[in-house]
Amino acid sequence: MVSLKYVQANDSIIVMRIIDSPFNQGNVVCIELEDGLAFVDASLKAVYTSKFRSEMEERFGKKASMLFLTHTHRDHYFGIDAFSDLPIIVSQVGLESLAKSLEEELSEEGRVRYVEAMNEQLAELGALPEGWERWEEDWVPNYLNAKLSRPTMGVKDEMIVGSEKRSIQFRVVGGHTDCSAYLYVEPDRVLLSGDNLVAEHAKNSTCMLALLKPSCMELLKLFEDIGPSKIIPGHGPIVETDYVRTSREWFSEMFAKLRSMKDAGVTLENAVKDARLQEFFEPEKHTQWDRILSEWYQVA
Ligand SMILES: [Zn+2]
Repeated sequence: MVSLKYVQANDSIIVMRIIDSPFNQGNVVCIELEDGLAFVDASLKAVYTSKFRSEMEERFGKKASMLFLTHTHRDHYFGIDAFSDLPIIVSQVGLESLAKSLEEELSEEGRVRYVEAMNEQLAELGALPEGWERWEEDWVPNYLNAKLSRPTMGVKDEMIVGSEKRSIQFRVVGGHTDCSAYLYVEPDRVLLSGDNLVAEHAKNSTCMLALLKPSCMELLKLFEDIGPSKIIPGHGPIVETDYVRTSREWFSEMFAKLRSMKDAGVTLENAVKDARLQEFFEPEKHTQWDRILSEWYQVA
């Protein structure tokens, strides 16, 4: 059963986590500014996000004033209708690619075509894959009916909003997607990483880990160097800088091992099976671990 959990990063920054959702849902964050509330990401469903918005407006006695998107993947974007009356800020790359997608695969017809194609693939599989149990009754209606509006502003490199009391830096860095950005709140020293950092990987979709590539390590290093007091990842619980360091060191070592196996002519199949590959740094390993390792082997 899906549950919404509100977690305080501090008195002015609240994260809505969507727990036990059969489909991946990104965190939504509310940041109290002097003259309004800035929200970050919209998750997959406007119904949850609207609830969060109105509860935060009541809690802080301030109106929502803007939405930032860390990137334009569905699990951060499809709940956008909860903020369609506000300025919506995304990277310039994201603004352009979304405008195109809304004409094509995310148009009403495009979405119908996608669901039909997926249904055909699922029928061929015979049984629903793990985590897809609510595909028909929950995911499909949301996907087909979500009201998708266009962001209103594209940022090329960087944008800063707020006041001396509290400001938000929105910085486009790429990585997880070409359009990915992170946000940094001062003086709180809270960093919102988008999906360039995720925590509790086993509870997230396979692609979240599989999309990771060696070049993303530089971004993790950048996050460490910024020296935040807390980091709100794109998915999962709030973490500290130590978690970023542990992740970066682990991923870097894994990529190096896969690289050297590749150079030594070890086949993908054998590399994936190899017992020398290290244990994951989180207690739970992803159920699709072999698939993730093979993606990493390709990019190592
Ligand atoms: Zn995501």
